[in-house]
Amino acid sequence: MGRIIGIDLGTTNSLAAVWQDGESRLIPNSLGEYLTPSVVSIEEDGTVYVGRIAKERLISHPEQTASVFKRFMGTGKTYTLGGKSYRPEELSALVLRKLKEDAERYLGEPVEEAVISVPAYFNDMARKATKDAGALSGLRVERIINEPSAAALACRGLGKKDWQKESDETLLVFDFGGGTLDVSLVDCFENVIEIAAVSGDNHLGGSDFDIAIAEQFCRENQLEFRQLDLKRQEIILAGAVRAKCALTKEEHTIMSAADEDFREKMELSNRKLIQISMHLFHKMIVPVKSVLNDARKKMLDISKVVLVGGSCKMPTVQQYLRRYLPDSQMTAMNPDYMVALGVGIYSGIKERNEDIRDVLLTDICPFTLGTGIYNEADKARPTMAAIIDRNSVLPCSKVRKFRTATDFQNVIRVDVYQGEEYYVTDNIYLGELDVDIPIALKGQEAITVRYTYDINGILLVDVKVDSTGKETQQIIMTGRDTIAPEEVDAYVKELEKLKMPPASQEEHQMLFAWGERLFAQSTGELREEIGRRLQHLQYLLNQEDLVSIKRGEKGLREFFESADRYLDMAELSWEQEQGDSWYQERTQEEEDSEEDYVRWYDGHLTS
Ligand code: ADP
Ligand code: MG
Repeated sequence: MGRIIGIDLGTTNSLAAVWQDGESRLIPNSLGEYLTPSVVSIEEDGTVYVGRIAKERLISHPEQTASVFKRFMGTGKTYTLGGKSYRPEELSALVLRKLKEDAERYLGEPVEEAVISVPAYFNDMARKATKDAGALSGLRVERIINEPSAAALACRGLGKKDWQKESDETLLVFDFGGGTLDVSLVDCFENVIEIAAVSGDNHLGGSDFDIAIAEQFCRENQLEFRQLDLKRQEIILAGAVRAKCALTKEEHTIMSAADEDFREKMELSNRKLIQISMHLFHKMIVPVKSVLNDARKKMLDISKVVLVGGSCKMPTVQQYLRRYLPDSQMTAMNPDYMVALGVGIYSGIKERNEDIRDVLLTDICPFTLGTGIYNEADKARPTMAAIIDRNSVLPCSKVRKFRTATDFQNVIRVDVYQGEEYYVTDNIYLGELDVDIPIALKGQEAITVRYTYDINGILLVDVKVDSTGKETQQIIMTGRDTIAPEEVDAYVKELEKLKMPPASQEEHQMLFAWGERLFAQSTGELREEIGRRLQHLQYLLNQEDLVSIKRGEKGLREFFESADRYLDMAELSWEQEQGDSWYQERTQEEEDSEEDYVRWYDGHLTS
């Protein structure tokens, strides 16, 4: 059987890694380098160049060469190279094929499968295009993982036998690449890694610094950058990149650029770089604030800031971040390699290596999944009712109730849509199912719709007619084209399990039983507190957020242990022994989620 490798298929650079001798190792390409530029050049006669050579040809043969195509994965965009047209997934496939061949040469055995990382914000179309690119390159791609999850894996060394079991951290992954900035908050508890929020700027990256430097270079040399021909622009940009990278190691450098007709120089320092690109620095902090806001966290809650991506090597970038993230620990170990090393760890887990532990990667749903509902105001245009909200943690399972909209309605159609728009027709249509309902007056009949969605893009839709109890079920593949009929049963079984997170099911039954026993044994304030804690556990379960559930379980276990100790010492009164310390020990996070809980609980009562 062939090996599984991990691939960081980047916008600017791609890397491959493999699990070997108990660790994730980067695989060098045929030039002995780890980074393979994601650039493809195709000649008229069909000769294909990938990587460093293709990158050089960006300048000499721009009409045969393409780069930054990852940005357009899953869109209709095409590139014409050497007279033929290519989709981004076909160009990505050529990069993947190169990585596959280099890995086979390095490993001395065939590589059949790959785990590929993608940005957390990638939608279904882009994820599907990534899988297609894998298939076109001759690789089986069963698993796509998110870049920030991969970086978190690498940062924590999770998966290795000696990983710290009792670790509970919130990481801020700051991934600053060539064309994009992706900021993610990653919650980690024991072996669970969960993305709590993502934000970013799709139009901010290392290349913006290159342009800022190139424009300054032109200003100082009486040239107008935008008016130069493409080739000269590329030459100046290449000089700008060299100067920018030199500033990683030195404070000052001389940038030069030349072709047959011109030869110019410019002095550049980190201080000058800041002056000419202040607008870019200001934009960097915006997504950081936005993820913290979305996850209702403060800078102080961050245990580690993980710097990822080539642009994080810039000392000016690191210094700028330090102004905002002073109390956090910044880790800038190998920004270039973090994602690839993490995907390498995951490929080891997927290979079921003995020397590696299972890690549970959860994911966030980057879009809303919902259904169309009757719109009284404009009967022809149904509106979107969300069932699984954008940013929900996957795997997850959510229910919502709907009532008939007209008198004597005998069928309810549940159509499934993905997207954020108000009118369903503006969203992406995924499928539909019809259920028969008894004839009655408007609003008297109701159905309960459950969406269960997992990390592989498979959506299970369950519809139950409340009055008759009749259930209808359908599987919708949001990321793949089709599903073989003989596979359907297996998928349904897997998803059925998700209606309750399986890993914690037993733990929960145990905690509930423990809590109920304590409730029966105790009196007064302690008893009330136990009741509250049990309700809180139920609330956490309903939220289906694994890290919160695990944290909640740990807190509850400790609380129950102390309650048991107290009950053993019957002669002391609870208040005397503990004072109200058990109450004060609750963290801000618990208090916050308690507030949520009260809101949720109130909502529940009235509906
Ligand atoms: P992506 O994830 O988009 O593929 P990378 O993480 O490989 O991108 O980052 C590529 C970017 O990092 C490019 O803009 C490149 O110029 C920049 N970069 C790489 N090395 C350095 C360096 N030493 N100093 C400054 N920028 C660098
Ligand atoms: Mg990257």
